[in-house]
Amino acid sequence: AAVIVAIDGPSGTGKSSTSKAVAAKLGLRYLDTGAQYRAITWWMLNNGVDVADAGAVATAAAKPSIVSGTDPERPAITVDGADASAPIRTQAVTAAVSAVSAVPEVRARMTDLQREIARSTGRGIVVEGRDIGTTVLPDADLKIFLTASPEARAARRSGELKGKEAAGLDATREALARRDAADSGRTVSPLAKAEDAHEVDTTELSLEQVVECVVTLVEQ
Ligand code: C5P
Repeated sequence: AAVIVAIDGPSGTGKSSTSKAVAAKLGLRYLDTGAQYRAITWWMLNNGVDVADAGAVATAAAKPSIVSGTDPERPAITVDGADASAPIRTQAVTAAVSAVSAVPEVRARMTDLQREIARSTGRGIVVEGRDIGTTVLPDADLKIFLTASPEARAARRSGELKGKEAAGLDATREALARRDAADSGRTVSPLAKAEDAHEVDTTELSLEQVVECVVTLVEQ
C-alpha cells in the first residue's frame, strides 16, 4: 500500500528541505501545499482581486487552474499553464498569502486538490503544509510536526532570501510571527499539531539529522 507522510509546522523549521529529502530518499512523491496557496494568491494579485476582501477571494477561488508537479528533485507548479515557481516566492505573495488562505472556499478547493494528488501516487507521498495531519490527510501513516526557536527560524528564512529580498533578522522574525498568528488564528483548519503527530524541535539539529529522524520513523 502507498505510504502517506504528513509534515506540518510553521515556516523556517526546515519543513520543505526535510520533506523533499525524505521523499527523495524513500522514493516517494512530494507535495508542497504552501506553494499551492501561494499560487492561488499570486493569481489573485495578478487579476485585480482585493485580497483583503474575503467575499471577492471566495468568488474567484475556483477560477485559476493550479497544477503541482510531485517530483521531489524538481518540484514545479503552474497557474493557468504558466510556470509560477519563482513569482510565488516574492514578498508581495508572502505578505498576502495568509489572508487568502483563511478563506474557506480557497481551503476547500486546495484540500480537494491535495487529496486527489495524494490518492493517485503509486508508492506514496510526503505532503508538507500546516493542516495536513489534522485536516487534509488525517489517516496519514506518519505525522510529523516541526518546530524551532524564533531565532533559528528567522536565521533560516534570511538565509533562503539572501541576495533576493533579504530583510534584517528582526524584521524577518516579526514577519514570521505575524504569519504564524494569522495561520494559527484562522477559523478553518488552522496551523496545528495533530494529536498523533511526532513533534520534532529542529533548533539544534542539522537538516541531515532531521531527515534521518523522519526516515527512521517512516521505517518503523
Ligand atoms: O509553507 P509556506 O510558507 O510556503 O506557506 C505559505 C502560506 O500558505 C502559509 O503562511 C499559510 O498561510 C498557507 N498554508 C496553509 N495551509 C497549508 C499550507 C500553507 O494555509 N497546508
